[in-house]
Amino acid sequence: LVNTWKGTGVRRRPAAEPLTPGRWRVFNVDVTSSKDPGKDELGVHQVLHEAVCQRLRLECKDLPVTSLTVIRKSFDGRNTRKNKEPKFSYVVDVTIDEDAAAKGRRKPPMELAPSESLPEPLRCAVTQRKIVIVGAGPAGLFAALRLVDAGHGPGIVILERGQPVEKRGKDIGALFHRRILNRESNVCYGEGGAGTWSDGKLTSQIGRNSAHVRRVLETLNKFGAPDTILVNGKPHMGTDNLVRLLRNARAHLEGAGVQFRFGSKVQSLEGGEAGAPVTGVRLEGGEVIPCDHCVLAIGHSSRDLVKELYRLGGDY
Ligand SMILES: Cc1cc2nc3c(=O)[nH]c(=O)nc-3n(C[C@H](O)[C@H](O)[C@H](O)COP(=O)(O)OP(=O)(O)OC[C@H]3O[C@@H](n4cnc5c(N)ncnc54)[C@H](O)[C@@H]3O)c2cc1C
Repeated sequence: LVNTWKGTGVRRRPAAEPLTPGRWRVFNVDVTSSKDPGKDELGVHQVLHEAVCQRLRLECKDLPVTSLTVIRKSFDGRNTRKNKEPKFSYVVDVTIDEDAAAKGRRKPPMELAPSESLPEPLRCAVTQRKIVIVGAGPAGLFAALRLVDAGHGPGIVILERGQPVEKRGKDIGALFHRRILNRESNVCYGEGGAGTWSDGKLTSQIGRNSAHVRRVLETLNKFGAPDTILVNGKPHMGTDNLVRLLRNARAHLEGAGVQFRFGSKVQSLEGGEAGAPVTGVRLEGGEVIPCDHCVLAIGHSSRDLVKELYRLGGDY
């Protein structure tokens, strides 16, 4: 009843509250498409500045443009059938100083922006361990990047059943154009993992743009993804960019001492029965690669290895 109008069940609009100094994240700042400079403008423009000031009950002179940062920009055409104009919807971080706080009001949806800092890098006391990562999809590559940030490198081996992107591209071409399937190098298997030959839409938890999501986007951007992915509401990389990005990521990891072994299909684990430590992995063909730690980043298509894990029992 507290949040309804005189107990009628009609939701009451939340009242505006005093504004306090700090960094705030303002959601759903709308600018109609005819007033917006368009999808390619990803910075702060005058109409957006005015819209944010209006939301904060401030005059534009009280809030410098430089205190605004665009976090997300998405196109919203949902109301067009009701003859409403399509709009761009923004998420904006705003730094409020003492003066602006004294004059403005805070109206939901608005929340304190997370601190700018990214999660602390891992710190490992021992960096000489032999670490085997199975799978060179997003999970395996990001595991390797995090371990390299933490000081590991020469002890890391990435085992990938498929082929590097250059060769994988040819195998996929043969599949699409001549209907020849390479069972180990195809749309699901190979460097970059499943989805590398999609158009590279990034969808997971993009809207809130948390520090973790930003870290992933900034890493992709560092290796060659377009700057637009950092702001666009529907970030999109494109297969051409993905191939270049993966080559850059591989060069970076190899520069740190990480070893890539393509065409290396892991068939079973050494040890690992009922929760015992895994001491190595066995490749198809019999070679055993010993390790102190094993990261299984095998995605959802590797049914043969999942069956093997099931046979071993334990908590995988
Ligand atoms: C056709 C398609 C299109 C997609 N499009 C998009 C998209 O546009 N946007 C989006 O966000 N997501 C998309 N996805 C989903 C996305 O690809 C997955 O969420 C993501 O790839 C999962 O990452 P992963 O590293 O966990 O697994 P995977 O990407 O599956 O990587 C696992 C890797 O492990 C390797 N591997 C498996 N078993 C073994 C073994 N026994 N030995 C050695 N190596 C092994 C595989 O070859 C593979 O390279 C798409 C998926 C598919 C299939």
